Amino acid sequence: MANAAKIDIKSLLFNELQEELCEQGEPSYRAGQIMDWLYTKRVESFERMSDLPDQLRTRLAKHFAFDRLEVVHVLGSRDTTRKFLFRLADGNLLESVLIPASPALYGGKSDRRTICISTQVGCAYGCKFCASGLDGWTRNLDAGEIVQQLIEIEKKSGEKIDNVVFMGMGEPLANLKNLLRAIRIINAPWGLGIGARHITISTSGLAPQIRELANEPTQFRLALSLHGATDEVRSRIMPVNRKYPLKVLLEACDYYVAKKGRLTFEYILIAGVNDTDEQARELSKIARRLSAKINLIPYNTVEGLEWSRPTRARQEKFQSVLRKHGVIATLRREKGHDIAAACGQLRLQTKLAEGKVGLSV
Ligand code: SAH
Ligand code: SF4
Repeated sequence: MANAAKIDIKSLLFNELQEELCEQGEPSYRAGQIMDWLYTKRVESFERMSDLPDQLRTRLAKHFAFDRLEVVHVLGSRDTTRKFLFRLADGNLLESVLIPASPALYGGKSDRRTICISTQVGCAYGCKFCASGLDGWTRNLDAGEIVQQLIEIEKKSGEKIDNVVFMGMGEPLANLKNLLRAIRIINAPWGLGIGARHITISTSGLAPQIRELANEPTQFRLALSLHGATDEVRSRIMPVNRKYPLKVLLEACDYYVAKKGRLTFEYILIAGVNDTDEQARELSKIARRLSAKINLIPYNTVEGLEWSRPTRARQEKFQSVLRKHGVIATLRREKGHDIAAACGQLRLQTKLAEGKVGLSV
C-alpha cells in the first residue's frame, strides 16, 4: 500500500502468484516455494529466499512490495492481554491485540490464543462509544497488511495463534474485498492454516454486506455488534442504525442464518444507555428470532468520552433477564481493561501524545 505502484506479495493468492510466475516462464513449483518462504519459514525479504535463482529474486523485488509492520509499542505481559501498536509503511498507526486463553471467546476452546486484528486505519462509522471512530476514517488495509498483523505478533510473542477475530480498528465489511482475500490467506493450507471456524468477523451491521457474506462458502463466524435492542437506543449510539435500522438489519440476519446456520451478538453494556431490563427483554426477542447467543461485554471507558460501564450487579441482572427469557448470554470478565483493551484506544492515546489529533468530544 505504501508503494502504490506495487502489490504486496502477501496480498496474493496462490493461483495468482502461480499465474504471474507462469507468465514469466517459471516452473510451476515456484509458487509453492515462495509461499513456503512467506508463511512457513516466514522470511522478511526476497533476498532470504535462498533456493530461488538470484535473477528471480531480483525480479520479484521489482514486481512486488514486501512490506513489514514496525512495532511501535507492546503493552501488557505474557499472561495478560497484550496490545501491539504498529506503524505501517506509509506512517499510519495500527493496532492489534493478543488475548490469552479465555473460556468465553468466539467458538474457541479455553486453551486458545486469540488475536484481534484491524481492517482499516480509523473507522467511518462513528459509533459514539468507540475510540476507533473518533478520529474518522483514513484508509482501508490491503490483504497483506491484515495478514501481516498475525505474522508479526506470532513472531514477537513466540506464540502460535489459533483464533482470529476481526474486532480491531475499522469496519471489516466496509473493506469486504480485502477482508475476504485476507481470510483466504489466513485459512489456506499454503498460508497460515487457521481453520475457518476459528475466524470471526465482527460488524456494526452493514445489511447488504451481511447478505453477501451469507453467500460465501467459507465457514467463518459472524458476530453482530448490536448494542441496542430498539431503534431508539441503537441510533443514539450507532449512526449506522439510521442507514440500516433494525428491521432491515434483522432481515439481512434472517437471510444469513438461513444460509449459514448461526451468528452471535455482541452487546456492550453502557450504564444508563442500553442496560435496562426493558432492553434485555427486547434483546431476548431478537436473539430468539435468530437463535443467537449473546456476548455481553462491560464497556471499556475511553479517554474523553462520557460513557461508563454499569455496576457488576446491573450487568448480572441484565444477563439474568436474558436467561429468564431462554437466551444464552455470557458476561465477559474481559481482560486488559487497564491497558485500554478495546481496539483503537492505544492508537488514539499515542496520537494524542504525539499531538496528531485533538479531541472535540
Ligand atoms: N467495526 C466492527 C468491528 C470492530 S469493533 C464492529 O463494530 O463490530 C469490535 C467490537 O468492539 C464491537 O463490538 C464494538 O462495538 C466494540 N467496542 C468498541 N469500543 C468499545 C469499548 N470502548 N468498550 C467495549 N467494546 C467496544
Ligand atoms: Fe467503527 Fe466498529 Fe468502532 Fe463502530 S464500533 S466506530 S463500526 S470500529
